[in-house]
This record gives sequence, structure tokens and C-alpha cells, in this order.
Amino acid sequence: MSDFNQPLGGNDMPRFGGPATMMRLPSATTAEGLDAAFIGVPLDIGTSNRPGARLGPRQIRDESRMLRPYNLATRAAPFDSLQVADLGDVAINTFHLPKSMDIITAFYDEVLGHDCTPLTLGGDHTVTLPILRAVAKKYGPVGLIHVDAHADVNDTMFGEPIAHGTPFRRALEEQLIEGTRVVQIGLRGTGYSAEDFDWCRRQGFRVVTAEECWYRSLAPLMDEVREQLGAGPVYLSFDIDGLDPSVAPGTGTVEMGGLTGAQGLEIVRGAWGLDLVGGDLMEVAPPYDPSGNTALMGATLLYEMLCVLPGVKRGV
Ligand code: MN
Ligand code: MN
Repeated sequence: MSDFNQPLGGNDMPRFGGPATMMRLPSATTAEGLDAAFIGVPLDIGTSNRPGARLGPRQIRDESRMLRPYNLATRAAPFDSLQVADLGDVAINTFHLPKSMDIITAFYDEVLGHDCTPLTLGGDHTVTLPILRAVAKKYGPVGLIHVDAHADVNDTMFGEPIAHGTPFRRALEEQLIEGTRVVQIGLRGTGYSAEDFDWCRRQGFRVVTAEECWYRSLAPLMDEVREQLGAGPVYLSFDIDGLDPSVAPGTGTVEMGGLTGAQGLEIVRGAWGLDLVGGDLMEVAPPYDPSGNTALMGATLLYEMLCVLPGVKRGV
């Protein structure tokens, strides 16, 4: 009998029943005693196009019911190694984006204060900024693996500095991330100028466009990413629209020609060995996801993030 929390098994309760937590884990009201926690942030008032990501955390939790504890590909056994629970949702103010930013940072300050690694169910990508504010307070500027169709480095949107298309410019300005330890993967589509991604390159980011990923395994790329990011703390931010709409249609700002589901898994699995201090899965918008498969992909990627956290044992 393990001392660690376990997901409720599919032979103990039908998978369509039981608690509506991430992977049907126990819920917790404090991060005290936890090594890692799943946290929902039901915010989409930073969204520029189709809304709906506020409903993401619930749908990701629902679809996560199918996930079993052991990783058959990597042999990771996260629930034999770490104390994990679902901390529920951050009580954002859905009428006030700036106030919500502070509410989110305060929540993550508390979680990180207990040395608990946060894995976030988004929510639109605005949410990553207040999380990084808390993360950098604890660790200093971190490295970043950012998977997305979009660079999310606009200066402003409609004149506003805080929106789902600006978090990584703000994060760099606020020295929450280190420019030379940032890798953006999956960028593509149309821009406001042909040079949009060059701003990222000038900051020292490595930009890996979707086209550079087509038709190939991303395992060799991740070897290079691990080399570049080195031993320091790293945050992983995964916008589900980095994947192709054929596998992840349920999101607000769809771009054609994205990564495959397998490439998404390779990226997260390729973070194994890094000092991962947090991760998020953003922009799942259930209204455009009638099959639930986008949310299931999101849940799966969050589970894979858990599997690559420092301290997770792997079978042989
Ligand atoms: Mn994004
Ligand atoms: Mn995006």
C-alpha cells in the first residue's frame, strides 16, 4: 500500500463516475505536504478571438478520467514517487483582468511556498504571466519551453499590455525568463509583418517554426533543447494550438499546419532530465471540442509533464 495519493482506479469506480478531479486524484485545499499539484485557472478574458478557455479546466479534468497511473512508454511511475493532488481552481475575478493577475500570482506564491510544483489547467495564455511572476520570485529568471502556434510577444493588444498574446514579452521585460534560455516550438501562420518572429530571435530565443518540425521526430530537437537549457530551472508552457487543428480543434485561435499529437508528446517527454519547476496546458476551449479529444490531449500532456518532474521514478 503506497503512502502516496493514487488516482481512483477504473476497476474501483467506473471511469464515468467518481470525483471530477484531475485523473480522479484526491482534492486538496492546501499545497502543504504535496510535491506537485494540478491547478485550474478558469480565465479567458484575455482572449482576442473565440472565447471558451474558461471552461477548459473542467473539461480537461473530465477527459482525464481515462488516464491510468503508469506511463507505458517511458515507464514513469509518478504516483509511486510524488505526493500529488488536485488543488481545484483559482477564484479569478472574471470581470477584472488586472485584478485576476494578482489573484493568480498570490495563489501560486502560496503553492510554491510549500515547495509544491504547479501544473496548470488553463485558461487562456494570459494566465502564464502571473504564474511566472510567482515562479521567478522563488527561482529567479527561468528557462522556458514554449509550445504554441503563436509567439505571444505582442507589445499590446487594443492598447492593453496584458492579454493572451503578450505574456512572453512582459515576462522578458520583467526578467521572469532568460532570453537565451527560451525555446519556442510550433510557431506558424500569418503575421502583422513578415518579420514578426525576428523580435524573438533578437532577444536570444530559439524559434523552431512548425515547418521545421514537419515530417520528423522531435526527439533530436529536444536533445538540443536540453543542452541549451542546461541545469537551471525551466518552466514548460504548452498552448494546445501548437498542435495541428486535426488533433486539437478545440481552441480559440486555430492555425493550420501544426504539430502532430506524437510530436507534442515527444516535446514533453524530451523535458526529462531538466529542472522543471512548473508547467501549464493552455487554451483548450471546450465549445469547439465536441468529441472532447482536445481536452483529452491536454490532460494527457499534463500527465506527461507530471511524468518528467524531477524525482519521478521510472521502472526498468
Ligand atoms: Mn499562446
Ligand atoms: Mn496560440
